[in-house]
Amino acid sequence: MRNFQEILNNVYVGEIEGKKRIFTKSDYPPHYGERKIDGLREWIAARSKLAALLIKGHNVDLKRDTKMLYLGAASGTTVSHISDILTDGVIYAVEYSAKPFAKFLKLAKERKNIIPILADASQPQKYSGIVEKVDFIYQDISQRNQIDIFKANFRFFAKDYAYGLIFVKARSIDSTAEPDEIYKRVLKELKRDFKILIYDELSPYHRDHIFVYLRWSK
Ligand code: SAM
Repeated sequence: MRNFQEILNNVYVGEIEGKKRIFTKSDYPPHYGERKIDGLREWIAARSKLAALLIKGHNVDLKRDTKMLYLGAASGTTVSHISDILTDGVIYAVEYSAKPFAKFLKLAKERKNIIPILADASQPQKYSGIVEKVDFIYQDISQRNQIDIFKANFRFFAKDYAYGLIFVKARSIDSTAEPDEIYKRVLKELKRDFKILIYDELSPYHRDHIFVYLRWSK
């Protein structure tokens, strides 16, 4: 497969046109206008924070049989690529806005490993009858109280030592404080319940965003 390196199940990184790019191997058609070359869907880093994290050289524990809870699916840009990775796993994907959910439903119908859930992630009890215990909780919802929401979902659905990945946009937490100050606060708050594994900014792909990759220490 060209000169590409496989960094996760079905995820390839390589150079095209002198630029580092990332792809997922996929039997499915493009979902958001990305190109498909030789069975590989380009995973556009400016459209997906997980692609940005991976293209920057970080990695996360996603296996082919990982069970994931994904909070903030929108129209499924990132979920479509995670679905290519978790070939024997499942993604329970929560989104509360009806408009992107309509496009997301089309994706979920086409794929076998996506369970779409139209719900508010701040009310995990409402979908506790659908979601099982998971290995990984992913959150990309840009909300002031997103850490509380993240923790509440861990309490309901995380297996012991489950992994988590949270994306934080400084302005969503506090529009007046400096981003670095906000990130310090966020990390302090997360350290109470999690072991922090990696954190970093997502520039130049997503400005004023950080990700924190962590593990549930309960
Ligand atoms: N993760 C998506 C991707 O990479 O393809 C993009 C997500 S977009 C930045 C954030 C999404 O979170 C929006 O679609 C928004 O409606 C959703 N959202 C925000 N708060 C939510 C909540 N409390 N429950 C469910 N979805 C929420």
